[in-house]
Amino acid sequence: LIQLAAPLSYLGMIYRETKQTLSNLERMFVLLDEPIEVRDPVPAPELVIRGGEVKFERVWFSYDGKRQVLRDVDFVIAPGKTLAVVGTTGAGKSTLARLLYRYYDVDAGRVSIDGQDLREVGQDSLRTQIGVVPQDTVLFNDSLYYNIAYGRPSASREEVVAVARAAHVHDFIESLPQGYDTNVGERGLKLSGGEKQRIAIARTLLKDPAILIFDEATSALDTQTESGIQLELRNAARGHTTLVIAHRLSTVIDADEILVLDHGRIVERGTHTALLAARGRYAMLWTMQQRQDDTPAPQSHPNRSE
Ligand code: ATP
Repeated sequence: LIQLAAPLSYLGMIYRETKQTLSNLERMFVLLDEPIEVRDPVPAPELVIRGGEVKFERVWFSYDGKRQVLRDVDFVIAPGKTLAVVGTTGAGKSTLARLLYRYYDVDAGRVSIDGQDLREVGQDSLRTQIGVVPQDTVLFNDSLYYNIAYGRPSASREEVVAVARAAHVHDFIESLPQGYDTNVGERGLKLSGGEKQRIAIARTLLKDPAILIFDEATSALDTQTESGIQLELRNAARGHTTLVIAHRLSTVIDADEILVLDHGRIVERGTHTALLAARGRYAMLWTMQQRQDDTPAPQSHPNRSE
């Protein structure tokens, strides 16, 4: 038995490392359906943040070179402001986030941050300045502490606790028998969609990037969880230039500007109040959403991840 112990422990280590790698990969692929195709320029200058202005100028994009997914998309997010993008399924909302993160390059037009074309700066320096809260956060098979600290591994325990408080997940963590040391993942704790998003918000707050992409969850969170997440998001967005990909219109009310995307084209833009008054496409989407929300939810626990 003793002779077996070493190889078994070695196998255990390989198993854990493989799982961790898979988890890292899964996380990378949340926003991404394909391998990264873009190349760094040589030499690759670092992105310099002066305020965090995001600019899309007459952007055209197609995944396959045939079907246009974005058509002549033009907008600016001023430093520290929030822009929300709404539209029906497949309108191209998440594609905007992928282009800003530079998973792909535009076919025509330009995406820039503080005047620097994304194609002309190093990808690493770009991605350290952008924090993504994805719709379905894939957590590492490790402790809650590790999952938050991943945002900035050099952070102190006090800083980790501070962001967990800000994301309103600290009290929940402290209520667990093993607190921050609780393992999440397959063998550990199962978290609800809302709890996972709060962990992702805490992680992003720790990273403290100039630019924030919030990909709102498509899965239904219960109303209380959802309004909680909105509050945490508003706090997180303060001082960061924020792009909200709104699948459910619940986070857009306070946005400085809302874009309505239809088949890759901007068909309306304005604030929530102005767009409702215009009684156009946005007002129609809003009414549809209200009707859906009034439909009684199933009796199970829709926000529990299995
Ligand atoms: P949803 O609200 O359903 O998430 P969306 O507005 O975010 O939709 P996108 O994910 O941006 O839509 O997709 C826009 C279009 O591009 C869709 O028709 C989609 O099928 C297509 N698409 C998305 N990713 C790829 C890909 N990797 N390869 C090819 N086509 C893709």
